[in-house]
Amino acid sequence: MKITAVDAPEHAQVVRVADAPSGLLGFIAVHSTQLGPAAGGVRMRRYDNETAALDDALRLSRGMTYKNAAAGLPLGGGKAVIIADPAKDKSPELLRAFGRAVDSLNGQYWTAEDMGMTPGDMAEIGTETRYVAGLANGAFASGDPSPITARGIFNAIVTTARHRFGWKDLRKATVSVQGLGHVGYHLCSLLTAAGAKLIVTDIDPEHVARIAREFSARAFGPDEIFAVEADIFAPCAIGAILNETTIPMLKTGVVVGGANNQLATDQDGQRLHDRGILFAPDFVANGGGIINVATEILQISNGEAWVASRLEALDQTMDRILSRASAMNVSPNQVAEDIVREILHPKAA
Ligand code: NAD
Repeated sequence: MKITAVDAPEHAQVVRVADAPSGLLGFIAVHSTQLGPAAGGVRMRRYDNETAALDDALRLSRGMTYKNAAAGLPLGGGKAVIIADPAKDKSPELLRAFGRAVDSLNGQYWTAEDMGMTPGDMAEIGTETRYVAGLANGAFASGDPSPITARGIFNAIVTTARHRFGWKDLRKATVSVQGLGHVGYHLCSLLTAAGAKLIVTDIDPEHVARIAREFSARAFGPDEIFAVEADIFAPCAIGAILNETTIPMLKTGVVVGGANNQLATDQDGQRLHDRGILFAPDFVANGGGIINVATEILQISNGEAWVASRLEALDQTMDRILSRASAMNVSPNQVAEDIVREILHPKAA
């Protein structure tokens, strides 16, 4: 195993991890440990090249610092990426090699599930390190975080709809959902139970077929979803999908979803604001998952009640952000970033 330091001035520590026998190649990025050990999932996907994977790790780990701070957790921000196709390349050897890489950081970074990973994969990683959460079994096991992530997004949808439209009864709402994986599936289930109408898309036709069947959703192609008419757009797939090309296409009053880093650039928050589209900052809306994971890292004994109270606090934070953004006539993302900076640098605020 080769673990080499990567120069990243804004980050506390970044390493490239490579293990030829198992095929492991990736990066672990620790953005900040100011509030506690860095925590954030490991993502396995194909990347065009190493630079793209490193960029993703750097961006996502910074996002975790913001997410953990906004959720009021005593955790810093970190993230790992593995350059591999989860359908073809994942093996116990590769996962164990990754576990050894995590362990080499001596608890500075805690890993958990992200795209392409499952609780079973966490168990395999856990054979080599104790710095892993999102396990299915064990004294403080928190399992798959996506149902709680979806619950947090659902709460954010209700709160954002109230701010933007003046109603919170989702029987009035049509919601378009992009990405029908773990988070998207549970979100569609909650929205259907609340009486919302669903418009959905995914690049995987099986995921679309399942949601259309179970929740009577109308399906559109992946490129069509941006232009469909809906009250609320919920991006639950990949990042950077709100950009100078897609934002002018949107026919929705609100964007609230689970995907990390939905804005391609900082200007895109302003672009949405200029179009009168209320954007719920993703690193606040999707904080439910890391709250759930935190019960395991922090060894919380009454986990369910603790998660419920933290989700409520997260929703209040979202409410405060939207109120302040409205009063200041600025993008909620700007306000959310300011609030996190106040937490991270209290004296400078
Ligand atoms: P997942 O891999 O289970 O699902 C992602 C889905 O998006 C898949 O069905 C995939 O086919 C689809 N997809 C990919 N590219 C697409 C595209 N261009 N158009 C339409 N669909 C596309 O992942 P997940 O766990 O559901 O996570 C979804 C997003 O939420 C990710 O950005 C992840 O980082 C973020 N997130 C997840 C959690 C969690 O608890 N799982 C927590 C916080 C944030």
